[in-house]
Amino acid sequence: MEERDLICIVCPRGCHLHVDKDLNVTGNFCPRGAAYGKQEVTNPTRVITSTVRIENALLPLCPVRSNGAIPKGKLFEAMKEIDKISLKAPVKIGDVVIHDLVGSGVDLIATRDMPVVK
Ligand code: SF4
Repeated sequence: MEERDLICIVCPRGCHLHVDKDLNVTGNFCPRGAAYGKQEVTNPTRVITSTVRIENALLPLCPVRSNGAIPKGKLFEAMKEIDKISLKAPVKIGDVVIHDLVGSGVDLIATRDMPVVK
């Protein structure tokens, strides 16, 4: 494993991390940074935030996000799947828009109420 310098994105403090070839993490202010540094080097993941087309709502797009992180290698496939779908109002905040997104075990959920436009 190659040594890496990273910025921790778990919280706004943004600690500068160093991960050595034995996966020892330094520069982290808290244990979450160590976990993030190890994971970023071995199996990087990301939470997706995006929008999905929606019919019969005041706005044409409904904001969504994944309710967990998915492997970085699956992001492109996930975005393609998200681009393909279209919702119908009403949608409630927290509604599952796609279950088990690209087999990641993570769901895509709505992050805003989208009532039917009158
Ligand atoms: S190491 Fe801890 S304190 Fe530093 S940015 Fe990461 S989560 Fe925040």
